[in-house]
Amino acid sequence: MLHEIPMNNVEPRYAELAEKSLAGDLLSPAEMKSVIDGADERLPELLEAAFRVRYHYYGKKVQIHVLMNAKSGLCPEDCGYCSQSSVSDAEIDKYPFLAKEELVNAAVKAREAGAMRFCLVNSGRGPTLKETEKMAEAVAEIKSKVPINICACMGLLTESKARILKDAGVERINHNLNTSSRYHPEVVSTHTYDDRLATLESVKAAGLSTCCGGIIGLGEQDDDVMDLAVSLRALDVDSIPVNFLHAIPGTPMEGRSNLTPQYCLKVLCLFRFVNPSKEIRVAGGREVNLRSLQPLSLYPANSIFVNGYLTTSGQAATDAHRMIEDLGFEIETSEEDELPEQQSIAQ
Ligand code: SF4
Repeated sequence: MLHEIPMNNVEPRYAELAEKSLAGDLLSPAEMKSVIDGADERLPELLEAAFRVRYHYYGKKVQIHVLMNAKSGLCPEDCGYCSQSSVSDAEIDKYPFLAKEELVNAAVKAREAGAMRFCLVNSGRGPTLKETEKMAEAVAEIKSKVPINICACMGLLTESKARILKDAGVERINHNLNTSSRYHPEVVSTHTYDDRLATLESVKAAGLSTCCGGIIGLGEQDDDVMDLAVSLRALDVDSIPVNFLHAIPGTPMEGRSNLTPQYCLKVLCLFRFVNPSKEIRVAGGREVNLRSLQPLSLYPANSIFVNGYLTTSGQAATDAHRMIEDLGFEIETSEEDELPEQQSIAQ
């Protein structure tokens, strides 16, 4: 029996959206909605169009990042999705800031996993000066021993603390908007969307690269997803992690996730069209939400995390390498590989 694409669907004209995106033009709200509302039968065409944009800027290269909690849990904030928050009963490891030797060893392992960037996280509302200095000390040690780029995620950050981290060798700071300004109060009450914007301003003022994305599946509407994509474009952030809610048992959002793999792929395509030249990373929740369709996410996105997340496990590096190879894509190597003072990570 032959299968036909339903002809009563409005023609998505995805190729035109790719052209518009490559020309630097922002999609209209109706065009963005047409991406999210696109028929599942049209998904291959949508992915093809998003891949045209991704290919223009990144070819078939895939950036691998490794994430690690330098400090875990113990956070006074009430972010509803987070297993480390004060309102979470999730069973997770909780520990104060690790010794720098442990972080150096983890950076070596990240490099061995093919990572071009190691992302160090300090859980909490924002770091104390002492925590900032500890992170700076650890980063300086890593940079002296391991050829890898460093991103730090510290919560709310002032410009002076951002400068301490930059001076130690941090290239980039992650601080997510998470969702739209409208929906943000539904996600957390202990800090505001404007607090998050202020941190991004501090990071930019300190001369650091910005990594800022969001979480899909928090109960927001499609308009909030579109708003987030457009806000990130306006902020001109360098890197966009797109997380899909992994509703961890014990968190207030336990049981909330109703995402489908197809929807996740459409969201990634939307983010690519709206932020054509930016690094787009399929971040937390990739494995549980995209499931067997994970490889398709690399048509719109150009980056992934491997070896797990802050409090949950993830795809092993070897499996990720195989996935990338099977797609005919290639792992992007770090500019740090070119440094003359590079040391063998086998040491
Ligand atoms: S996301 Fe960050 S600030 Fe929010 S509860 Fe988790 S660790 Fe705390």
